[in-house]
Amino acid sequence: MRGKILGLVGESGSGKTVTGFSILGLVEKPGRIEQGRILFNGSDLRRASPEELRDIRGNRISMIFQDPMMTLNPVLRIDTQMIETIRAHKKISYDDARVLARDALGKVGIPSPDERLAAYPHQFSGGMRQRVAIAIALLHKPELIIADEPTTALDVTIQAQILSEVQKLCREVGTALIWVTHDLSVVAAIADQICVMYAGRIVERGSTESVLDGPSHPYTNGLIHSVPGNNRPGTPLQQIPGVMPSLLSLPVGCSFRQRCRYADSMCMAEPEFNAVETNRDHIARCWHPLAEGRPA
Ligand code: SF4
Repeated sequence: MRGKILGLVGESGSGKTVTGFSILGLVEKPGRIEQGRILFNGSDLRRASPEELRDIRGNRISMIFQDPMMTLNPVLRIDTQMIETIRAHKKISYDDARVLARDALGKVGIPSPDERLAAYPHQFSGGMRQRVAIAIALLHKPELIIADEPTTALDVTIQAQILSEVQKLCREVGTALIWVTHDLSVVAAIADQICVMYAGRIVERGSTESVLDGPSHPYTNGLIHSVPGNNRPGTPLQQIPGVMPSLLSLPVGCSFRQRCRYADSMCMAEPEFNAVETNRDHIARCWHPLAEGRPA
């Protein structure tokens, strides 16, 4: 939804990045989308022609990658890259595009944007490079930004600055944001809604408050309790036993079954999404959803 932030959470290999790439039609062969729809403002992106997708990418939907060098060309100056991006989707003079690029750098907190436009990516620190990548993503005021762990490699103070700036910009511009991360503290800080992914599927969805305060899926519950900050000092961390199954050979039924302490014979069938108690917006894919940490 416009101006809202969705946190897409899960451990490495759960399918978060592939979900982001799928939305933009960037899944590389031999990967392919087998079924389902990708609805963007009511139209199915899977039915869009390559030309239509090219027009949407970087214009109506932008992506910020974990490594800003996936966005930036190391041998081109920042102004060349930003102006090219602007003129790819807008009929505008070089000088006007340069003004837009300079303003975009200023908005993400890059000092002396006029001078910095003439620099090459290697002349920026990691945090500043990521700011440039974010500025490029925001150039066309997209309706949606998919941010794939963009602050994971940065130190926590820079991460906090970038999170707060992106949050502010999205609210101001009305851009919807999908923030992909394995870090629950990041989604707790910025997201309005959370989707938790496990083994290639979303297993829980709801408002940030509802999911973090009252997780319903045993996997989400395990994730929350394995964060050191949620445990009393001196008590051992609660770990989720085992490892995530390979997506190439998922177990029959619930894919969390082999790691779940509440698994029973019912879990041999694949669970549907169930509403959590009376909250229709909070749903979990589990036969025995938790209430206050125990199966209801
Ligand atoms: Fe655990 Fe069964 Fe729920 Fe899967 S469906 S998470 S195995 S209780």
